[in-house]
Amino acid sequence: MTHGDGMLPDALCFQSPEPLIDIGANLTHESFNHDLDAVLERAARANLTAMVLTGTDRASIEASAALTEQSHPVALYATAGLHPHHAGEFDNSLQRFIEGYLDHPRVLAVGECGLDYHRNFSSPSDQRRAFEAHLEMAARTKKPLFLHERDAGSDMLDMLGQWRDDIGPAVIHCFTGDKQTLYGYLDMDLYVGQTGWLCDERRGEHLRELVGDIPADRLMIETDCPYLLPRNLPARLKGRRHEPALLPWICREIAACRGVSEAELARQTTSNARAFFNITDSI
Ligand SMILES: [Zn+2]
Repeated sequence: MTHGDGMLPDALCFQSPEPLIDIGANLTHESFNHDLDAVLERAARANLTAMVLTGTDRASIEASAALTEQSHPVALYATAGLHPHHAGEFDNSLQRFIEGYLDHPRVLAVGECGLDYHRNFSSPSDQRRAFEAHLEMAARTKKPLFLHERDAGSDMLDMLGQWRDDIGPAVIHCFTGDKQTLYGYLDMDLYVGQTGWLCDERRGEHLRELVGDIPADRLMIETDCPYLLPRNLPARLKGRRHEPALLPWICREIAACRGVSEAELARQTTSNARAFFNITDSI
């Protein structure tokens, strides 16, 4: 049995009891090219009220900003920045390109940007140079920062520490690190984004305990789709693409880990996202 356009099994059509905001969706990924309208319809049915599309390079920044200008069943916003994987491409022309989009009324944050030493697709020194430029753009524009960090907590904390007094709010998206790094971020008053990573009984176990340590007013939720399909879905969907309509499953799992109701977690994280990104539209 399938629902609507036949893409999502009925078992997965689960509606959040309260509106949700997905703060990290890579909807310009090629896997959404063929059915984006249906994806947005399903997200609206799942009770998502807004999404922030992640701009990670020239093409995704341009395409994400363009999507926010059209009318959709879910309010769309975007970010503009260069993912650390692409840091080797960062130059003056790309910086001007990003700065141009930071004036766009629906581009709400600088990023994603940061450090990823897990795979080092760009050299660590290139990553630090590009990240420094993003910190400077955030300080100058007073826009919030959407941060990515993997296996680079110590350098990230050092660099943020040097800029903390000059930049505004910042979220460490898809946090998967250890307790010490988390506490370092919380000491800097960062927001923390959680994905379906902690739904994974193998690699997400430490996060299931740590997620309870994030203050309620600092937690936000995201799919990071099409990546990171949650593993708590009721059906095995091997190789399936992750999409925003599945955010209620992540909300449910985090609520259970924190010992609160889904409705309470939804209300709190949506209110945090609205405040963080300064979303004032009546969505
Ligand atoms: Zn990321």
